[in-house]
Amino acid sequence: MLSFFKRFVNYNEREITRLQKIVDQINLLDDKAKALKDADFPAETKSLQESIRSGEKKLDEVLPWSFALVREAGRRVNNMRHYDVQLMAGVALHEGKVVEQKTGEGKTLTATTALYLNALAGKGAHLVTVNDYLARRDAGWMGSIFHFLGMTTSAMISGASLLYDPEFTDADAHDPRLIHLRTVTRKEAYAADITYGINSEFGFDYLRDNMAQQLSGVVQRGFTFAIVDEADSVLIDEARTPHIISAPYEQDTSKYFEYAKIVKQLSPETDYIIDEKLRTAHLTEPGIEKIEKMLGIENIYEKDFEMVFHIEAALKAEVLFKKDKEYIVRGSEVVIVDEFTGRLLEGRRFSEGLHQAIEAKENVAIQRESRTLATVSLQNYFRMYEKLAGMTGTAATEAEEFSKIYKTEVLVMPTHRDMVRIDHPDMIYKTEAAKFNAVVEDIAEQYKKGRPVLVGTTAIDKNEHLSHLLKKRGIPHELLNAKNHEREASIIAQAGKKNAITVATNMAGRGVDIILGGDLKTENIKTDAQRKKAQAEWQKEHEIVTELGGLYVIGTERHESRRIDNQLRGRAGRQCDAGETRFYVSLEDDVMRIFGGEQISSMMTMLKFPEDQPLSHSMVSRAIEQAQIKVEGFHFDSRKHVVEYDDVLNKQREILYKMRHSILFGVEQDIDAFNTTVQQTIDEQIASMGASFFALQESDPEMQDQFSVDVATLFNLDPKKLKSLIEGRDQESFTKYIEENVAKQLEEKKKTVGPEIWNQVIRSMFLSSIDQYWTQHLTAIEDLREGINLRGYAQMDPLVEYKNEAFKLFEKLLDSIRYEAIRRMMYVEITMNPHGDEHEGHNHAHYNYNETPKKSLAEQVQPKAVKPVKAEKKASSPSVSEPSAEAKKKLGRNDLCPCGSGKKWKKCHFPNMP
Ligand code: ADP
Ligand code: MG
Repeated sequence: MLSFFKRFVNYNEREITRLQKIVDQINLLDDKAKALKDADFPAETKSLQESIRSGEKKLDEVLPWSFALVREAGRRVNNMRHYDVQLMAGVALHEGKVVEQKTGEGKTLTATTALYLNALAGKGAHLVTVNDYLARRDAGWMGSIFHFLGMTTSAMISGASLLYDPEFTDADAHDPRLIHLRTVTRKEAYAADITYGINSEFGFDYLRDNMAQQLSGVVQRGFTFAIVDEADSVLIDEARTPHIISAPYEQDTSKYFEYAKIVKQLSPETDYIIDEKLRTAHLTEPGIEKIEKMLGIENIYEKDFEMVFHIEAALKAEVLFKKDKEYIVRGSEVVIVDEFTGRLLEGRRFSEGLHQAIEAKENVAIQRESRTLATVSLQNYFRMYEKLAGMTGTAATEAEEFSKIYKTEVLVMPTHRDMVRIDHPDMIYKTEAAKFNAVVEDIAEQYKKGRPVLVGTTAIDKNEHLSHLLKKRGIPHELLNAKNHEREASIIAQAGKKNAITVATNMAGRGVDIILGGDLKTENIKTDAQRKKAQAEWQKEHEIVTELGGLYVIGTERHESRRIDNQLRGRAGRQCDAGETRFYVSLEDDVMRIFGGEQISSMMTMLKFPEDQPLSHSMVSRAIEQAQIKVEGFHFDSRKHVVEYDDVLNKQREILYKMRHSILFGVEQDIDAFNTTVQQTIDEQIASMGASFFALQESDPEMQDQFSVDVATLFNLDPKKLKSLIEGRDQESFTKYIEENVAKQLEEKKKTVGPEIWNQVIRSMFLSSIDQYWTQHLTAIEDLREGINLRGYAQMDPLVEYKNEAFKLFEKLLDSIRYEAIRRMMYVEITMNPHGDEHEGHNHAHYNYNETPKKSLAEQVQPKAVKPVKAEKKASSPSVSEPSAEAKKKLGRNDLCPCGSGKKWKKCHFPNMP
């Protein structure tokens, strides 16, 4: 069997031949495009759009002509005519492939063809960049081409959105590419035909959209086509970083103490019902009335739905959780005691507000924490696109990963002109000190000649160490390791000038090109004569630097991944420029120490060499590369493993967001789907409660009373009537009775306010229930994830256990949402504003409705959404499954059977079982 790599090479050759044939077709249309007048281009676009949107033609059929148009537009507008290899790469991007095109080959221009073609369908085409600067630069730069073609272009950056508008001039912009960008709203930016944007903003907008309470708050319009620039950096290195939107847990902690006081005044049985076995605590109708009186409010549900939830948590804390049994108090901290092992679960907290309730009960400070409102990894965000493409200077070494995780093929494009860069074999030293001395010597020598040098280091401390050594030698240099993208870009842009010495960490994913002789400075140029002069000066410097051998790249260490080394090398020798690269390594380097193994060190002893003498031998270079391949494989495996964990929550998010979507969009756009979701929720709840009732009747008749009260409480019904139906063992009439009564109650509410407002009220109650529990679910899953490897599952695969547990939590989540949404629907009271009567009909503006949270989730969000790099191994303890959540649902098939056998209900006294 051929190796993955060998197969990949064969495949690549065939693909290039195939793509060349398509480019031949495009070339045939060249004259036709050249013959068009400038004004004809938008009209051509329009007719293409019509043929695509009407379904008359497919994208592939109009590809050659579209590409020919874009190429001609590029030539006329920016004086850049797509090379054949750029068209080839454009076709591959359109096909959803990851394209490797060396640095400086012109990926920015390459992407325009595929973006234009895919934007014809009218659903938006996205180009994803690694930083704000590149999003602006590329939108401004390529925006002129799209504008010429009759398409709009936007840029989405942190905290702002811009639209390319040639009528607009930004006086502050000194880069000509940034001049025509006008500020617009997020929604307008997404409405553009083509959107350039930083990767994290796409992710955050997705999360924010899924927290919107109103349709108008949604800004994105689907995930049709995206090209990810610097794809390896975004889709592999950064892919797993979760994007998190969080909010402080509870700003006002005083209410926990208030609730703790309240529950002390309630009496068991009359005011609340507890169930020790199920560890639930529920308020009864009289209990609620009592609390309303104590607080001086009329309707507890009307004031704040979360209040009932918190009071019930306080109740559980009071009666079900005992100090020194379920938890201990140490100083001012409440620490959980593991119910199985009796060990302290350091740093862990009970979920669903219970921990805070216990803290209030014990009168210690409530620990504020930020809660995750929404989270998605870039990887999962990008996997939502119908078609995903990528481009980068270095993808080939990662072909297997792209194919397995993103199901995209990698294609390596030939360079436009032949490469003349010289890559020297590695220089190997015994010690790190000797290595750095040699590096400084090499730099000093180049500096004397005036040749520009780019030095790559793997970490900030090494980077600063080298800078220190250079300072001692009196060699001026630029140091690059901070995250200032604008400045970073300008440093790199000038790194090709005579005498420029640049010391940088990790060059991957920077997206700025090093031009020999530096960037042509255009800021102060006013006249043609000035331009000519500047151009001539640049040309002279360019030639001098070329004469000196072009850019000289020094690597001071081999990175763990060959790809990162290739990124660094790739900075030299762009577009047939002269250039040289060399890596310096020492036996003390991490890669060598950790992964080099016996092979290298025995080679070293065999080849015996002194401390300060380098060794340069292709055999050693090969051995190093082997070590790197080993590390890459190791990392790939661990990423693959992590993806399997991520997939679990990702599926759940998809399901939940879909449900949320049907509720959010339903009222305006699909009322049938909306009504179905609401009705189903009610039906499912009745059915599941009914099922548990009629099973329990046989095994545990004492629970009948409690359940009839519970059902009556939820649906606002008469418990006596329910009791008699249970006793009669007539599930059918039980169900019918609830259904009819619920429908009647809801019908009345609807009549009072009119269907329009009623639907909006339902929508907001559903959304707030979904959001509240989803947020809690995220925390629970986080805890589960952290704890799963620490659990002692003898012989069990933690992933399988994780999946099972996560599935249970998700079922619980859906149950809780259902229960809560219904409870809110049954108890909400809507009072019409009396002034509203002056107007005819029920105007939206004229109702008093107090259920919605004062602030929507999106508004509560901290302005700075955090993007933490999560430590993989946090010292943490097993997750604590939250017993109280049982309160929100009645018995499910997977719960323990109430008969006390310790078996699952479905395997024991479940009614349908033999
Ligand atoms: P990459 O992203 O592949 O590293 P860029 O898109 O930054 O490269 O482009 C590098 C340089 O090549 C830019 O200065 C651009 O103007 C130039 N360039 C790209 N394509 C062409 C072309 N077809 N004709 C002329 N110049 C081009
Ligand atoms: Mg680029």
